[in-house]
Amino acid sequence: MNIRNYLKIKNLIPSTVNLLAVSKGFKSQEIKIINDLGQKDFGESKFQEGFQKQEILKDLKEINWHFIGRIQSNKIRKIVQNFKYIHSVDSYETLEKISNASFEEMKHPSIMLQVKLSEDPNKVGFDPKLLIEKWLEIQKFKNVNITGLMTINPKGLSAIENKELFRKCRSLADSLNLPECSMGMSGDWEQAIDSGATWIRLGSIIFGDRIR
Ligand SMILES: *Cc1c(COP(=O)(O)O)cnc(C)c1O
Repeated sequence: MNIRNYLKIKNLIPSTVNLLAVSKGFKSQEIKIINDLGQKDFGESKFQEGFQKQEILKDLKEINWHFIGRIQSNKIRKIVQNFKYIHSVDSYETLEKISNASFEEMKHPSIMLQVKLSEDPNKVGFDPKLLIEKWLEIQKFKNVNITGLMTINPKGLSAIENKELFRKCRSLADSLNLPECSMGMSGDWEQAIDSGATWIRLGSIIFGDRIR
């Protein structure tokens, strides 16, 4: 745990940028320590792991839980029931299923659509062209509040390359009138902020190295 880094970054970021503390791979006790310092937003990437921590920490009512991982169809209902924000909606079909489950569960999650802006075969997400083509249909889905876009840059890019991709995300969001851009992790958050991020997702720089 690196409380000094947390406080430093918290002080450095502009008021337009929200810090999501990515607690995947870390224990509920560590979430509690950061929460005691005023951190309200926490991100998890696996349903079961996140849900266990939610149960342990259920008395901390002020936490907003964000889902940021790959979304398996058979977990959608549970994700909708337990997460207020979902950053990682990577396809039209997944969005449709989330909308249906949210309607049935009378939930209204805030959604960020993950976009694929590079050729990296390991990355998933909407193709920008397809997103624009489908945009009218996408906006008709019930019980989902689509507030922005999310992207994950490939590792190993230069600062300039990072900014280029982040700016693509920002301008695509602007063209769709979406306020939020969830982009930037421990290695590239400064470039993301320079390029118009409104959510940065920080794990290891705050919590330390994850043990897998
Ligand atoms: C793990 C993860 C992060 C945080 O990564 P760090 O490099 O540890 O800051 C951010 N976003 C997503 C989607 C992640 O899976």
